[in-house]
Amino acid sequence: MSNDPLYWLEEELANLSEQNLRRELPSWSRDRESGAICRGDVSLINFASNDYLGLAQELNSPTLQATLEEFGWGSGASPLVTGRTTVHAALESDLAAFKATERALTFPTGYAANVGTIAALVGKQDVILSDARNHASIIDGCRLSGATVLVYRHKDVDHLAELLAAATSHRRRLIVTDTLFSMDGDVAPLTQIAELSRTHDCMLMIDEAHATGVFGKHGRGLAELLDCEDAVDITVGTFSKALGSIGGFVAGSEKLIDWLANSARSYIFSTALPAACASANRSAVQLIQSQPHRREQLLSNAQYLRQRLQSIGLLHESHNEFCSQIVPIVVGMPEKAIALSAALHAAGLLVPAIRPPTVPVDGSMLRVSLSAVHTQAEINQLVDVLATN
Ligand code: PMP
Repeated sequence: MSNDPLYWLEEELANLSEQNLRRELPSWSRDRESGAICRGDVSLINFASNDYLGLAQELNSPTLQATLEEFGWGSGASPLVTGRTTVHAALESDLAAFKATERALTFPTGYAANVGTIAALVGKQDVILSDARNHASIIDGCRLSGATVLVYRHKDVDHLAELLAAATSHRRRLIVTDTLFSMDGDVAPLTQIAELSRTHDCMLMIDEAHATGVFGKHGRGLAELLDCEDAVDITVGTFSKALGSIGGFVAGSEKLIDWLANSARSYIFSTALPAACASANRSAVQLIQSQPHRREQLLSNAQYLRQRLQSIGLLHESHNEFCSQIVPIVVGMPEKAIALSAALHAAGLLVPAIRPPTVPVDGSMLRVSLSAVHTQAEINQLVDVLATN
């Protein structure tokens, strides 16, 4: 027996090491000229970033600097106290206009947006129908809400219909799904889900974290591309991916946003984003709309990489039905994924190995995240190393 109440952590950490599941905390710097990501002296082409459009480097405008001078950095309080500035208000109007909804609300992160929103919409008397591969923040929101959670098989609308038909005794019903799944890069069958939601009188919530700025004529996301925005009641997004920044948001009706501002605890009890950050986020929303060539380039890169991977047998058919910028290369057990990631690292390429608990134990993989600023030469380099390992 030890006197240290945390003595058990050593054993748990050793268990993680044994299973090749222990994470370490890396710290990165950036080479300004090449855009490469650096660790110590090692410089790597970054295939691990969610900055899909290369906007992270584009948001430092004179307006941001002026906002910083006016408001300082920290916002100093939660939004309902004094944290929500005129810049946040302007950002929320811009977002509502961009997402073609009545209103929008900004949260500190996308994680906070999902957790707070779900728990504000349903409780013990209610039921949630959630895709098996939904993001952790959706899963945590479901748990926190206290509602009954029915998990349907990944993208399986028949299973969803079956569960809906049986779940008739609850007060409210919420269907929730990612639109572009963050690990597999595949897409929810939104049209069928929207139809089921309407016929069964459900609320439909979608998480467009990875699709906003990438898909749709105006870059609004997959609901826009698949023409089912009218059937969606609650849209969650984040500034942390294609928008190249930080923060989360919800877009929807006037009454939805009014309710969330009054009841989403992650909104009410957390400090607002800095005004300067809201200013950068406004630029990002503007750039997404005025520079569609960025998403066109991204999707053209995605098509190119997928074609090349398919030609060397590294792209599973089921991962190629929709050409998104997230490209998984499933290799099996965690140690194999780690070895391949290390070989790529040695060749100057950063591609993370994705292991349990993020994916099932035999579904470990490399997850390639493309960016509009990747060149064809960089993509060729990646494929060439994969082909020889
Ligand atoms: N939803 C999805 C689908 C995500 O992938 C993420 C981030 N990994 C989030 C929500 C959370 O967003 P944020 O990073 O802004 O907290």
